[in-house]
Amino acid sequence: LVPPSSAAVPPEALSTEPQGKADEPGQSAELENTSPANDEPIVDAADAESSSEELDESQRRERLLVPVQYLKGVGPKRAELLEKLGLRTARDLVFNFPRSYERIEPATPLDDLVEGQAATVLAEIQFIEQRKTRRGLDQLIVQAKVDTRRIKAMWFNQKYLAKKVFQGMRALFSGVPKFDGNRWIFMNPKLIPLRDDEPIPAGRILPVYSLTQGLHQRHLRTATQSVLGDCVPLIAEVLPPRIREQAGLVGIEQALRAVHLPESDEQLEQGRRRLVFQELLVLQLALAMRRRKLHTECRAPALPVDSVIDARIVRLFPFELTEDQRRCIDEISRDMGQTVPMNRLLQGDVGAGKTAVAFYAMLLAVAHQYQAAIMAPTEILAQQHAKNLRRLLAHSKVQVGLLTGGMSERERKVIHQGLADGSIQLVVGTQALIQQSIEFQQLGLVVVDEQHKFGVKQRAQLRAAGIDPHYLVMTATPIPRTMTMTAFGDLDVSTLRKGPPSRRTVHTYRGELEKRDAWWDFFRKKLDEGRQGYVITPLVEESEAVNSVSVKQVFEELTNGPLANYRVGLLHGRMTNDEKNAAMLDFTSGETQVLVSTIVVEVGVDVPNATLMTIESGERFGLSQLHQLRGRVSRGKHPGYVCVFAETTPENPVERLEAFASTTDGFELAEVDFRLRGPGDLLGTRQSGLPPLRIADLRRDGDIVEQARQLARELLEADPELAAPDVDLLRRQVLTRYAAVIELGDVG
Ligand code: ADP
Ligand code: MG
Repeated sequence: LVPPSSAAVPPEALSTEPQGKADEPGQSAELENTSPANDEPIVDAADAESSSEELDESQRRERLLVPVQYLKGVGPKRAELLEKLGLRTARDLVFNFPRSYERIEPATPLDDLVEGQAATVLAEIQFIEQRKTRRGLDQLIVQAKVDTRRIKAMWFNQKYLAKKVFQGMRALFSGVPKFDGNRWIFMNPKLIPLRDDEPIPAGRILPVYSLTQGLHQRHLRTATQSVLGDCVPLIAEVLPPRIREQAGLVGIEQALRAVHLPESDEQLEQGRRRLVFQELLVLQLALAMRRRKLHTECRAPALPVDSVIDARIVRLFPFELTEDQRRCIDEISRDMGQTVPMNRLLQGDVGAGKTAVAFYAMLLAVAHQYQAAIMAPTEILAQQHAKNLRRLLAHSKVQVGLLTGGMSERERKVIHQGLADGSIQLVVGTQALIQQSIEFQQLGLVVVDEQHKFGVKQRAQLRAAGIDPHYLVMTATPIPRTMTMTAFGDLDVSTLRKGPPSRRTVHTYRGELEKRDAWWDFFRKKLDEGRQGYVITPLVEESEAVNSVSVKQVFEELTNGPLANYRVGLLHGRMTNDEKNAAMLDFTSGETQVLVSTIVVEVGVDVPNATLMTIESGERFGLSQLHQLRGRVSRGKHPGYVCVFAETTPENPVERLEAFASTTDGFELAEVDFRLRGPGDLLGTRQSGLPPLRIADLRRDGDIVEQARQLARELLEADPELAAPDVDLLRRQVLTRYAAVIELGDVG
């Protein structure tokens, strides 16, 4: 056994790997945001912050682009592993930011240890034993002295560690101790060797990088640290002093050092903030440039509102619009009055009354002799929209076309013809149907219901002869502002916060197994009072999931059990359209009292008499889905009751269900979901076409998003082309990283 080599190896180099999931073999690389940092402008001779050496551009470039293979402690084999992480050059390492940090806590005296509580102990290794367990695992047992007492540490399958420990080694043992009645035992502690003369490194912060199989944390730490000294001073500063001052940011050199080798939390925070700010500023500049481009290059018909049109539309609604609806309508009609195509998201909780707002916008288009289309996510919903529109327009000449999958080719042709010659003004359908190269006489507005995204291609299909329709996208899944400002391409947002007064309270319960019978008693009592109810299950076939109950199984159980004497219908995604419609119709008319259904009922269905809902396998639904489901039973004049039965697992922590049961504010829930699960499918960066963020975390960096956005707008306001010499590097970074985004003219 050889003692650790001297100064060149950082003391943490021998620490065992953290147990985190991403460090498991083959796990981390693809999942992590490790795209190579090859779009940082390297230098600009003019702006070169003079470093100690005088290097010309090509020398700097050469030094930054030196292949990792030639770096200290790397070599060809490790270089291959680094390549898997997208790390090819010295510069790549500089921009490969840690995904987290670990801290070395100060050592605790043995007398202060508490069983089960993580602690760090300073000890000197006395005995080392290696053996095979009965199950064939390599076991390493170390006995170490703390003053006059002894502790024991054990590791499994850490061959690498076995080679590094030696008798007399001073080290920190960090882990969760157990007392066996005699001695403290550490299972799989992190081992941090100390040189003899080294003071105990209290409170050190170590970077944790994403790994790939065969590559250890210490490899990356060593390689990265070896380039910091040489390379960091060569990285060009893209943020000129005026921007750094305004935003209170440290310089690039200091920032890069701080994130890779922080000396204090404060330093780390400053460094990180600087890098996050830069990343978000570049993104916001790109989005702002695109917005400007959209404003100059795309044209939509101006469809302004005036008091006569407004009165004619408002008269049609059977209710008075709420203040919130009014405000959203104003925002929308202001947009529609411009020749810049509206690109607006209307968000509002389930039942908040988005449909009325959308219908208003559609009728505004009609008032100007333009057509409008609304796309629904399901056929059931399309039918509902068509029905409601026709009812609204019963006494007018406006024609509403409905396009559904169940229609014959001939029926569809009739609608297509009407849209082409302008005899049909409004059309409702599912996305697939409306996108099918329909020819419109004059399309002024497209509304997309319950959909976050409406891609570039779809838009192109609806664009006719250089005229863009206005776009309104509706969602009941509140999208955190941070997201609408970034991943959603900086959409304009209108929000319905308060629903119409007719909405009822919904009581939500977390179902516990013991209370199942009591819940069904209650459910039956309400049915007997004349109410109706849903039973929601996640899946259709038993075979699709091991743990969760299938809709058919639930149906069988209920009709043979708690609901034996009631009229129960079934609705799921595998049924034909006719079957679905029939099931829905039976439920709407009250023919069936209970509808056992999969998530197809999630969106928009409106049966005011249905006030009960049982949700099975609730752990399979996202918070926002649960919340949307709950919205189904808040529509009538009776209060709603929801009971969700769910298994809680680490991925589905109790917090989620508790949050669900404790608040009916969809925005609050969205924030909880965002916090617990991250942006998840909301982000959909792949869909949005944005390259992934490398260091910014939208969950925690929301305030920086705001600042960066504000600054981006100010900068472009003063200097639309970013032509000032001191932002030349910044402009180049925006263009290299986001050229595609700016070109597309659309992300949302
Ligand atoms: P969502 O936002 O989920 O699409 P809807 O537009 O379907 O909500 O509205 C939910 C219910 O509230 C519908 O039955 C609708 O008729 C009713 N509603 C909408 N606006 C008002 C209003 N201003 N006053 C009273 N009821 C309203
Ligand atoms: Mg709706």
